[in-house]
Amino acid sequence: MGSVQIVTTILAAAITAVAVWLAVRAVLKMTAVIRLGQPAPERFTDKGARTKTMLVETAGHTRMLKWGVVGAAHWFVMVGFIVLSLLVLEAYFEVVTPTGGLPIIGHWTIFGLATEVITVLGLVGILVLMAIRLRNRPNRPGGRSRFTGSTMWQGYFVEWIVLLVLIFGLLIRGFKVATDHFEYPLWATPVSHAVGAVLPDWQDGTSVAAVIKIIISMTWLIVISLNVTMGVAWHRFLAFPNIFFKREPTRPAGSGLGALRPMTSQGKPLDFEEADPEKDQFGVAHVEQFSWKGLLDFSTCTECGRCQSQCPAWNTGKPLSPKLLVLSLRDHAYAKAPYLLAGGGKDLTGEEKATQAQLAHLDVLALAEADKPLIGTAEEGGVIDPDVLWSCTTCGACVEQCPVDIEHVDHIVDMRRYQVLIESSFPSEAGVMLRNLENKGNPWGAPQNTREDWTKGLDFEVPRVGEVDDFEYLFWVGCAGAFEDRAKKTTRAVATLLNEAGVKFAILGEGETCSGDPARRIGNEFVFQMLAQQNVETLNEAFEGREKAKRKIVATCPHCFNTLGNEYGQLGGEFEVVHHTQLLAHLVSTGKLTPVQPVDGGVTYHDPCYLGRHNRVFAAPREVLGDAIEGELTEMPRNSERSFCCGAGGARMWMEEKIGKRINVDRVEEAMATGAKTVAVGCPFCSTMLNDGVNGKGAGEQVEVIDVASVLLRSVKPEQPQGGKETAPVD
Ligand code: SF4
Ligand code: SF4
Repeated sequence: MGSVQIVTTILAAAITAVAVWLAVRAVLKMTAVIRLGQPAPERFTDKGARTKTMLVETAGHTRMLKWGVVGAAHWFVMVGFIVLSLLVLEAYFEVVTPTGGLPIIGHWTIFGLATEVITVLGLVGILVLMAIRLRNRPNRPGGRSRFTGSTMWQGYFVEWIVLLVLIFGLLIRGFKVATDHFEYPLWATPVSHAVGAVLPDWQDGTSVAAVIKIIISMTWLIVISLNVTMGVAWHRFLAFPNIFFKREPTRPAGSGLGALRPMTSQGKPLDFEEADPEKDQFGVAHVEQFSWKGLLDFSTCTECGRCQSQCPAWNTGKPLSPKLLVLSLRDHAYAKAPYLLAGGGKDLTGEEKATQAQLAHLDVLALAEADKPLIGTAEEGGVIDPDVLWSCTTCGACVEQCPVDIEHVDHIVDMRRYQVLIESSFPSEAGVMLRNLENKGNPWGAPQNTREDWTKGLDFEVPRVGEVDDFEYLFWVGCAGAFEDRAKKTTRAVATLLNEAGVKFAILGEGETCSGDPARRIGNEFVFQMLAQQNVETLNEAFEGREKAKRKIVATCPHCFNTLGNEYGQLGGEFEVVHHTQLLAHLVSTGKLTPVQPVDGGVTYHDPCYLGRHNRVFAAPREVLGDAIEGELTEMPRNSERSFCCGAGGARMWMEEKIGKRINVDRVEEAMATGAKTVAVGCPFCSTMLNDGVNGKGAGEQVEVIDVASVLLRSVKPEQPQGGKETAPVD
């Protein structure tokens, strides 16, 4: 060993020892913080499916590749990080002796070839990612950036480290070529040979380049170990468990979509007949009341801002960004952790759990953090502003986009649950809706005995469950479909089409009550359970004696469709629920309905969030429209998975939209820009919001917003006025 190698070896050993010590300390700290969360036993089920999904999502980059160029570049960088870690290991042999290399595989040509290819593609990948970050930097002239609010130095730092590690990897190889100690043939390592051709014949060059590469790599490890909230770096490790433990491992995208998680206390679902707010946790009031998976979610965020770029609230000037919400919760959790780890925290009656002695030596900053209310205005020192919490439409665009499967909607609703159930703190205008649900069983407060008014004027009898028992489908009308004038047209159109196709169906009529979706999404789990239990009982009675496959329900409202199909199972109601567009597509494709006159004038389709993203029904409504209209369907730029919310979900339908641009106006502008004269929808709330948007723009005469079923009815029965006779509006 020469003198240069003695120095390089000491340097490499010293910096590695410091880095590894700090890294172990950081991992222990992160583990301790994540373990502060509540139990989540359901995350340990189905380990086979979880492992498979984790491997597919990480190795295949299935979520990342939805953004083609970024996804591909990131894949090369990820593979580069994993495979080229071997080359960092090899550098330890090279600091000791310039001719050194990895034992066994370090002599294989195939290893030389693979690492050469990955180095080059990794270089291209990281340069692309750097260019994208620079192009989208928050301070660039004009436009909002998905990186707004991200810690930019951390992103640049990680990217520069990757770039330098790759460059020094090539320099090590180049010096080996230049000094004639390189084992791999030219055909397998042409770039290394090209670099070697311009480097001097310096015998110690390899060891010096190797120690620099180790210093760069260990600097990275030291910096991230000193910054445990540096998700842009830590996600390289945390993404694996975060994906493994996602809520529904078999769901290809958006595992946190569809059903909401039941309210839990100590990891067990709460039953409101026995729940006691002094013994059971009602929602989330403090950051440690999230489950450990929630805290893992917050730790894993890469700050990529994909969620932010798709969020309808953020894009219309509201204070909510799903990324900033996650980052605020993460920073708060880590800042409060010393207090919690010292034994601090409030019990369910609000009393401090720690003794004075336990808190005596705590950092004042941790104590100050512990005093912050989780939900509160800036003046109150809150972690999350109430305007942030209540701006969410639960559209799921954030969950759909997140490459590491963070479950934003669950976290938002958990915080809402505490605010509504314990603090009674929510936008006051939504109180009327909740009172109506409790007293009248529908959000509008319409009399229950008018639920069947929509059937008036139809030229056939609509059968009720009980009057007939050989029905194939139970037609779940929904509150909007029964009481709201525009939605009633859809209800009549669907009933007319089912009757025309000879489908045996029946309604519950006055036996139906609200599915509970708005109550659940605003956070009132008590009212949701009350309504849902009543409906489950009614439906179980209606389907008595039938196996699940024959307990078929068709719903026109995607919120009912989602709640009945995905959430009633939590309360013992197992049904086969389809959306009316799915049933209509089936009836057309099997020849039971025949469109005879194509609807013209240009048609575009707006995907309802709870039909599309939450339940992945994208094709059926398009198939129906494809059969019913003249020419091609005109797609809006934001469609299917990336569709833009109408603004009504998450019980926002019953709240004022006081901040920023109205979401429905933003969507209507996009629809109108296509030039379509008809905007087809598949949801009564989307219909209301988009109609309001069109009318607000004074375009009510030029653009019509109607349900897919009404478009089909016009094509199947052109002679019939759409939806039958109007009935009097509901007050
Ligand atoms: S669910 Fe929709 S509105 Fe809510 S944070 Fe996510 S993207 Fe934004
Ligand atoms: S998409 Fe996921 S990882 Fe990216 S910023 Fe949003 S929450 Fe974080």
